[in-house]
Amino acid sequence: MAQLGLEKKPIVDQCKGCAHVEGEFCNVWASPAAKWRLGTCPSATHVQRETKEPEAKVRVGQQKQKKKPSK
Ligand code: SF4
Repeated sequence: MAQLGLEKKPIVDQCKGCAHVEGEFCNVWASPAAKWRLGTCPSATHVQRETKEPEAKVRVGQQKQKKKPSK
């Protein structure tokens, strides 16, 4: 079978403690450094990700509905 040309790169410092580390390499990503370049690795098991609370919706400009006159 032909090689895909994917060369595994060693883990980076931020990977230490992650469950996906196998020796010097990551068993998920070929290039761990690339995963950390843009922020936290999406597959990291050892990092608590900040969950953003959905912002409360502020409704502006709504008018109270007029009550229909009861007969
Ligand atoms: S999953 Fe992410 S944090 Fe874990 S070893 Fe791989 S690249 Fe590193």
